[in-house]
Amino acid sequence: MPKFEYAPAPESRSIVSLRESYGLFINGEFGPSVDGRAFKTISPATEEVLAEVTEAGPADVDRAVTAARKAYEHTWSAMPGRERAKYLFRIARIVQERARELAVLESLDNGKPIRESRDVDIPLVAAHFFYYAGWADKLEYAGYGPAPRPLGVAGQVIPWNFPLLMLAWKIAPALACGNTVVLKPAETTPLTALAFAEICQQADLPPGVVNIVTGAGETGRALVEHPGIDKVAFTGSTEVGKQIARACAPTRKKVTLELGGKAANVVFEDAPVDQAVEGIVNGIFFNQGHVCCAGSRLLVQESVYDEVLASLRRRLATLRLGDPLDKNTDVGAINSAAQLAKIRELSEVGEAEGAHRWSPPCELPVKGFWFPPTIFTGVSQAHRIAREEIFGPVLSVLTFRTPAEAVEKANNTPYGLSAGVWTEKGSLILWMASRLRAGVVWANTFNKFDPTSPFGGYKESGYGREGGRHGLEAYLDV
Ligand code: NDP
Repeated sequence: MPKFEYAPAPESRSIVSLRESYGLFINGEFGPSVDGRAFKTISPATEEVLAEVTEAGPADVDRAVTAARKAYEHTWSAMPGRERAKYLFRIARIVQERARELAVLESLDNGKPIRESRDVDIPLVAAHFFYYAGWADKLEYAGYGPAPRPLGVAGQVIPWNFPLLMLAWKIAPALACGNTVVLKPAETTPLTALAFAEICQQADLPPGVVNIVTGAGETGRALVEHPGIDKVAFTGSTEVGKQIARACAPTRKKVTLELGGKAANVVFEDAPVDQAVEGIVNGIFFNQGHVCCAGSRLLVQESVYDEVLASLRRRLATLRLGDPLDKNTDVGAINSAAQLAKIRELSEVGEAEGAHRWSPPCELPVKGFWFPPTIFTGVSQAHRIAREEIFGPVLSVLTFRTPAEAVEKANNTPYGLSAGVWTEKGSLILWMASRLRAGVVWANTFNKFDPTSPFGGYKESGYGREGGRHGLEAYLDV
C-alpha cells in the first residue's frame, strides 16, 4: 500500500505564555499557599519542565471552600438565572477566542495530539459552557420541580486525560444551577485549569464562584472530605472512586462518580469493514487510549475475523506517532511515567497469559513517555487484559459467533460505561442496545460526545450522569 511521508507541521507554541510558577486561585485571585509546597509539571513528550505549580494543603483547601461558601451565600445563589447565564456565555466566548492557545497548552501538558485538543477537546469545552448557559434561566422547565434549588458548594476532582474538558463537564452545570465550586485538577495536568482561572477573571466572574486548588491525591482527599462542601463530583479510577464513596457515605454530601471502563466494541459480519476499522481505531487509539469509555475490547464475529484484523493491521501501520504539537500526529505521548509503567506491566501480563501481541513498525522518540499502538489477539475472557482497564493504546481482540454470545461477552465485565455496535441492521442495533449494560451505546460510530447527551456508567463505572438535562440533576436539590 502506498504510504505518504509527511513533513513535520508543528503548531507554534509561541501563542502560550507560561508563567514560571503558579499560585492557587482562591476568591478570584492567584495567591501563595499557606501550608502547601511547590511541584513541577512537565511535558510528557519531552520531559521538559513547563512550570512550577502549588500543591495545596488542607488550610488552602479550607480557604477555598470558605471563599466558595461566601460567594454562594452572598452572590451566586441569589443571582437570577439569566444573570448567571451571561457569565457562562462570556466564559464560552473567551474559551473560543483563546482556543488555539488552550489547545497548544493542553497538548504540551497532557501529551495529546494537537489535532485532538484543537478539534475535539477545546470546541467541546466551549460547547458545554454555551449549552449550560442556556439552561441557567430555564431550570424550572428541566423537569425537577417548579423552583429547583442549587446544592451549595461543589468539590470537584478531575483526571488528566481530558483536563479542560472534564473541568467544563464539572463547572458548567454546577454554575448554571447556582452552585459555587472548588476544583482540583490532576497533578500531571494543572495548566489549562489555571488558564481557566484567568478566563474567570477576564469574564469578571464574582470572586469565589470558581476556585482552583492544584495538588495531588492528598489535596483531592482534603477537598472531598471537607465538611463544608455539599456535593462531590469525581472522575478518575474506580479504586479512588470507592474510597470517596466510603468517605462520603456517613455524610449528607451528594456524590456523582464517573469511573473506569472496559468497553466492548462489537463488529458484526455485515458491518462495513472500512468504517468499522476507523471506528475501532478511533475507539482505542484516540487520546492514546487514555479514555474511560475507550473501546478497549474488540469483539469480532468469527466469520469476518480475518478480514477485519488484516484491515486493522494495515490501518495501524499508517498511524503517525510523535510530537503532540505536530498537526499530522495521530498518537501522542503517554501522560506520565507511572501510566507508561502500568501499560507496560499489563501488556507483559497479556503475553505471559498467552495472548499474541502485535504492533506496527513504529519508532519511538528517545525522550518522553511513549507506547506503540498495540493489538492483542487470542485473548480469552479470563485474561487480565480483557478484564482490567489498561488506559493506554492497547486493544484486546476476542471473537463471537451469535448476537447472544456477543451480549454475554460484552456484559461480562465489572464495568458498564460504554459500548459500540457495528452492523447494517437497525433491528440488531436496537436488540443489542437494549441488552448491553452500558451507559452509552454507539451505533456505527464511537467516542462521539455532545453536551446535550448524558454520560455515565453502570456497576463499577460509577453513578450519576453528566451532560444534557440529566446532568442538571447532579447539581440540584432534588
Ligand atoms: P486517580 O483516580 O488516582 O486520579 C483522579 C483524580 O483524583 C486526580 O485528580 C487525583 O489526583 C485525585 N485523587 C487521587 N487520590 C485521591 C483521593 N484519595 N481522594 C480524592 N482525590 C484523589 O487516577 P490516576 O490518575 O492515578 O490513574 C490511575 C488509573 O485510573 C488509570 O490507569 C486509569 O486506569 C484510571 N483512570 C480512569 C479515568 C476515567 O476517566 N475513568 C481517568 C483517569 C484514570 P492526582 O492526579 O494528583 O493524583
